[in-house]
Amino acid sequence: MRHILILGAGTAGTVIANRLSRRLRSQLRAGRVNITIVDPDPVHLYQPGLLFIPFGESFRERITKDRRPTLDRDVRYVASAITAMDPDSDTVTLADGTRLSYDLCIVATGARLVPEETEGMTGPGWRESVHEFYSLEGAERLGYALDCFVGGRVVVNVVEMPIKCPVAPLEFAFLADAYFTNCGIRDKVEIVYATPLDGAFTKPVAAKSLGHLLEEKGILLETEFNTGRIETRAAGAPADELDGRAGALVSWDERRIPFDLLVTVPVHKGAAFIATAAGLGDAMDFVMVNPRTLQSQRKPNIFALGDAANCPTSKAGSVAHFQAEVLEENVVRMLEGRALDAGFDGHANCFIETGHRKALLIDFNYDTEPLPGMFPYAWGPVPLLKESRLNHLGKLAFRHAYWNRLLPGRDFPGIDAKMKRSGKRMLQTQD
Ligand SMILES: Cc1cc2nc3c(=O)[nH]c(=O)nc-3n(C[C@H](O)[C@H](O)[C@H](O)COP(=O)(O)OP(=O)(O)OC[C@H]3O[C@@H](n4cnc5c(N)ncnc54)[C@H](O)[C@@H]3O)c2cc1C
Repeated sequence: MRHILILGAGTAGTVIANRLSRRLRSQLRAGRVNITIVDPDPVHLYQPGLLFIPFGESFRERITKDRRPTLDRDVRYVASAITAMDPDSDTVTLADGTRLSYDLCIVATGARLVPEETEGMTGPGWRESVHEFYSLEGAERLGYALDCFVGGRVVVNVVEMPIKCPVAPLEFAFLADAYFTNCGIRDKVEIVYATPLDGAFTKPVAAKSLGHLLEEKGILLETEFNTGRIETRAAGAPADELDGRAGALVSWDERRIPFDLLVTVPVHKGAAFIATAAGLGDAMDFVMVNPRTLQSQRKPNIFALGDAANCPTSKAGSVAHFQAEVLEENVVRMLEGRALDAGFDGHANCFIETGHRKALLIDFNYDTEPLPGMFPYAWGPVPLLKESRLNHLGKLAFRHAYWNRLLPGRDFPGIDAKMKRSGKRMLQTQD
């Protein structure tokens, strides 16, 4: 009997578990292989839905489901947290001290928020004037804060990269512009977007398009802003240094942005247990993998996918889905003693909400940045890097596709794990 152990049953863990279960059905039923997945949280959260909660456009019941029914019936689910991993003995330890052994392990424990890493973030202003929307509790609390907001400066901030869905804070800024316009108070609200990047996004062509959109919507862009600390009135910071506002975001080079409401994306790290296995993770506890095969650099029988892996592409659900297709093949090859497929090309795609029921779509990989053109076919129907109503409908429809196609590990017609170049207008910035 070969034991496949999957750590984490979020997007990535669930997709790979369900794909492997289908692929290895006869071996599972014959007792030659088993698949176990471990996750302490009995509820699955559709994270892209968090973006809409602060604006009252979604709610908890719409974006959560019991975890067990999202997993194939032949997958064994253990509701517990991993506290340690020992690659030398091929075991992990659970919170109650139980040890599980494996022949092949897949790490899919995602990224965790560590707001306490930034001085002043979780002080007395936390969830009062300092908010985040990357957790369910945070998104709901921010919703109450927006309900009560009557005007002032809203600062949307990314502390440092990498973060999950790097476009989500930009989407938040766009949606905030539309929200305050619809509430009739846009003229009383100043929106500032403060990022450590040198533009609105990581890739030049998309950064230019998104930068124009910020400008059009009157959102001020503060680039190369490396957050050092947060000062709040509630924590006793001097009122004159806060410009009479609720707090100030202060960079390492002492640039100050006073705010009435801060919407920040805290530092992200991999799961804490990664640090218990020497050589498994990088400085931020993301698993060091071969970016094309997803095999760990620490030991050949360990793989990682989704946000937990340190692949140089976006941390996004779409990436987890594309990676799972390659990893499914590699798990089978590993069990059969064959060479791995170096097939993951960094493919990522994401709808970006821009407000007023419009969105744009980006599609890219390790070698090709997001470019204008059409998707998924050369003729379309969906435009790339261009605002449209169709893209907005695509983003809304994605929730249904997530529960019914993506999580069960089924493919999307016309959308392959490998990025297609057809339909994209190759620009001169591409080499
Ligand atoms: C606000 C927001 C908007 C987003 N929008 C988009 C979007 O539009 N498009 C897109 O593609 N992506 C989007 N994403 C990103 C997407 O949700 C993530 O990239 C995706 O969920 C990654 O899947 P994962 O399985 O790697 O991590 P997760 O889905 O976070 O799952 C990790 C799992 O591991 C479990 N776990 C953690 N620690 C342990 C432990 N010690 N032991 C056992 N289990 C553990 C957790 O309970 C969790 O269930 C968004 C994310 C956010 C926060």
